[in-house]
Amino acid sequence: MSEPGEHERTMAYADIALGQIRSLRQPAIPRNYEIWYTYATGYNPTLNQVINETLAKNGTLTEADLDHVYATYISAARLDEQIGNVGSRVMDEIDQVMAMIDTAVGSASTYTENLSSVSDELHTIKDRDGLRMIVESLVATANEMMQTNRTLEQRLQTSREEINQLQEDLATVRSESLTDPLTNLANRKHFDDRLKLAMAEAEERSEPLSLIMADIDHFKSFNDTWGHLTGDQVLRLVAMSLSQNVKGQDIAARYGGEEFAVVLPNTVLRSALTVADHIRRAVMSKELLKRSTGQSLGRVTVSFGVATARRGDTAETLIARADTCLYAAKHHGRNRVICETDPEFVGIIESKVA
Ligand code: GH3
Ligand code: MG
Ligand code: MG
Repeated sequence: MSEPGEHERTMAYADIALGQIRSLRQPAIPRNYEIWYTYATGYNPTLNQVINETLAKNGTLTEADLDHVYATYISAARLDEQIGNVGSRVMDEIDQVMAMIDTAVGSASTYTENLSSVSDELHTIKDRDGLRMIVESLVATANEMMQTNRTLEQRLQTSREEINQLQEDLATVRSESLTDPLTNLANRKHFDDRLKLAMAEAEERSEPLSLIMADIDHFKSFNDTWGHLTGDQVLRLVAMSLSQNVKGQDIAARYGGEEFAVVLPNTVLRSALTVADHIRRAVMSKELLKRSTGQSLGRVTVSFGVATARRGDTAETLIARADTCLYAAKHHGRNRVICETDPEFVGIIESKVA
C-alpha cells in the first residue's frame, strides 16, 4: 500500500504538469506529461534549469526542445540506461585499443622484415650507388616506423582521456543510485547497506555503534495547510540540519517519506543523544518563510529515537529498538529525543506488554 499522503502529494505534481501542458498548448502525450511531472517535483534540477532558460528565451518549448530535454534529462537519466551506455563505451574503447595494438604489431614486424632484407642485401653490395639505395630505404623505413609510433601515441592519449571521462561518469552514476534526489541524503537502499556494514565492522572491532531514527512532527497537517511543494522544502531543510550536525563516517539518510536515520559508527549512546539533540534544536530554531511571499509558516519540530547496538543485534532489531524510542518520543510530547534508558521508553514497553 502507498504511504499516507502519497495521493495528495503526487496529485499536486500532476496538477502542475497538466497546467503547464495546457498553458503551453502542448500535446498531452505521456512523454510531455513525464517531462512536466519531473519538472514539478524539482527532482532533476538540471532539467528545470534548461526548461526555465528555454522558456525565458523563447516563451515556449518546441517539439525539438521537448525531444532534447526528454532524451538528455529523462531517458538518459535512467540508471540502467546510463550504466549500459557507459558499459558499451568501455567495450568500444577496448576494441579500438586492441585494433591499434594489432596495427602496431603489424608495422613492427614489417619493420623487422625490412631490416633483415636490408641486412641480407648488405653482403651483396658492389658500389656506392648500391650502398646509397640501401641507406635511403633504411631511412624511409625508419621514418614510417616513427610515423606509426606517433599515431599510436596520439591514439593512446585520446584513449586515456576517454577512459578518465568514463571513470567520472561511472562515479556519477554510482553516487546517483545511492542518493535520495529530493534531499541529497543517502537513500534507503544505501542506508540498509551501510548500516549492515557498519554493524559488522563495529562487532569485529568491539566498537560501539548507535542509531538515530527521526520523524517530523505533525507533518501531515503542515502539508495540508501549506501544500506538498512547501512540504518538500521542509524535507530539504530537515535534511540540511541532519547533514550539518553529523560528521566523518556518520551516515545521514532519508529512511522514508518524512523519516530520517543516522548511523553513528564508533559512537556511544550518550554522544548519539547529543547529536540528535543538536539536530532537534537546529530544526526548531529555523523560522520557515514562504519563498514566493516571504510569509511566515511558523516552525517544524522533529522527534527522535536513539538506540545503541547490543551483542547479537541485527539491523532489523536495532532499527526496531530505535523506532520504539521514536514512538515513545511521539507519545510524550514530540520534539524530543528518547533512548532506551529513559523512563518514557520503559513506560511504552510496559504499556505494549500490558
Ligand atoms: P507525527 O507527528 O505523528 O509523525 O504526525 P505526522 O502527521 O507527521 O505523521 P503521518 O505519518 O500521519 O504523516 C506523514 C506525512 O508525511 C504524510 C505525507 O503527506 C507526508 N509526506 C511523506 N512523504 C512526503 C514527501 O516526499 N513530500 C511531502 N511534501 N510530504 C510527504
Ligand atoms: Mg512518519
Ligand atoms: Mg511524522
